[in-house]
Amino acid sequence: VETYDVVVIGAGPGGYVAAIRAAQNGLNVACIEKNPELGGTCLNVGCIPSKSLLQSSELYAHMRDHGADHGINADLKIDFSQMMGRKERVVSTFNQGIKGLFRKNKVTTIAGHAQFIDPHTLQVGDQHVSARHIIIATGSEPTPLPFLPFDEQKIISSTGALALSAVPESLIVVGAGVIGVELGSVYARLGAKVHFIEFMDRICPTLDTQISKEFQKILEKQGLTFDLSTKVTAGEVTDSGVELTVEKEGSAGSLTANIALIAVGRRPFVDGLALDKAQITLNAQKQIPVNPSFQTAQPHIFAIGDVIDGPMLAHKASDEGVAVADLIAGKTPHINYAAIPNVVYTYPEVASVGLTEQEAKEMGLPIKTGLFSLKANSRAGCMGETDGLVKLIAHEATHHLLGMHIIAPHAGELIHEGVMALQTRSTVHTMATASHAHPTLAEAIKEAAHAIFEKPIHI
Ligand SMILES: Cc1cc2nc3c(=O)[nH]c(=O)nc-3n(C[C@H](O)[C@H](O)[C@H](O)COP(=O)(O)OP(=O)(O)OC[C@H]3O[C@@H](n4cnc5c(N)ncnc54)[C@H](O)[C@@H]3O)c2cc1C
Repeated sequence: VETYDVVVIGAGPGGYVAAIRAAQNGLNVACIEKNPELGGTCLNVGCIPSKSLLQSSELYAHMRDHGADHGINADLKIDFSQMMGRKERVVSTFNQGIKGLFRKNKVTTIAGHAQFIDPHTLQVGDQHVSARHIIIATGSEPTPLPFLPFDEQKIISSTGALALSAVPESLIVVGAGVIGVELGSVYARLGAKVHFIEFMDRICPTLDTQISKEFQKILEKQGLTFDLSTKVTAGEVTDSGVELTVEKEGSAGSLTANIALIAVGRRPFVDGLALDKAQITLNAQKQIPVNPSFQTAQPHIFAIGDVIDGPMLAHKASDEGVAVADLIAGKTPHINYAAIPNVVYTYPEVASVGLTEQEAKEMGLPIKTGLFSLKANSRAGCMGETDGLVKLIAHEATHHLLGMHIIAPHAGELIHEGVMALQTRSTVHTMATASHAHPTLAEAIKEAAHAIFEKPIHI
């Protein structure tokens, strides 16, 4: 039996980061991964390949839709296999990068599927591995519709959508959440007719309502279409594609397309882990329950990332990976769950951190909001990209920032001004008086901060 100070199960952004940090803390670490490549969902079939395809398709759509306005006339052609090949090269460069980081930090990689034999011992193939501390970071998997299993040809998950061999003529996306709108945008830009079916009455339902409505209008201008408050009740694969039966306001209808992308959510993944051998049981949401120190029912077994409660985001998993490795090393880490940013990498991007207006009101907080439209931002004007806005929410009495919501090009970068403001408990006056370079999109944040208790200059 090989024995380690720490064994991590899963090499996604939770697990591989935990392994590196634990090794940096002087511990003897192994990381077990069943996939041939390191990096988990995020690197192999999530964040990175999707952002790679979003980048390629955005470049194309920009040239096609705006090139002539800039005085650039080009005859554009899509080489889809080159685009997919580039995506694979981006992923494999980072696969090698994590391998290199494991070598540098002396993290032992064990290839194979881990399962518990007892609370201190794991079996991987015919190998037994034991550890003083075990970190479960087994992540999540796409949730299928119960009556329509994935075949990854015509009924596809996000994984299938990242590996199509051609751009379909038509695509139905079931679920207008972050993953759905990102992947739907990729194929719409490349020429597919993309239609969304969403159960809730708005897209990306966790966003601030005003932002979600504005976002939908922008996507509609790009040719995406939406059926909201609509439920898929049945579906079948046909010769030409798929036929879905839908129900909207009590009446039934049917929709057809070449392919249906099912993006209704993700669920924690613990298959084959034999958690019962470690006397760990799942909660009602099928997550591994943990205490604030990420300890499971067994104090020496920890769990982090998508397999526990909280937003299913790579940076949340990584922050927890660092925190748990530091806890094991006797440090006292802290994660500010109230300041975890959320980004939708469409064009423009949508980013948010902190409370939405609805959440603040439900909590009974006295709030004031400030808005600033990109139409009055000079950098956005130079870019010719004036769709979007910044919305800030402040506490009416203390003037502290409570939430920040942005629709803008590079919103995913801009949002970190709000993350830092929340992290340092800044008031919106601090944000309004901090110098912001001109001309930048970030000036819209300063103006929105002015708009709360005073007046913006450029409106
Ligand atoms: C299409 C898509 C786009 C996304 N885009 C973003 C984004 O832009 N930003 C963002 O923050 N998040 C994004 N996400 C979410 C993000 O990928 C996840 O939140 C993140 O990967 C969770 O990390 P994790 O380490 O908890 O688990 P995972 O990344 O799922 O890794 C778990 C690993 O554990 C391995 N494993 C499981 N069981 C075992 C076992 N028994 N033995 C050995 N190995 C095992 C798995 O093979 C896997 O490699 C996206 C997800 C998808 C699907």
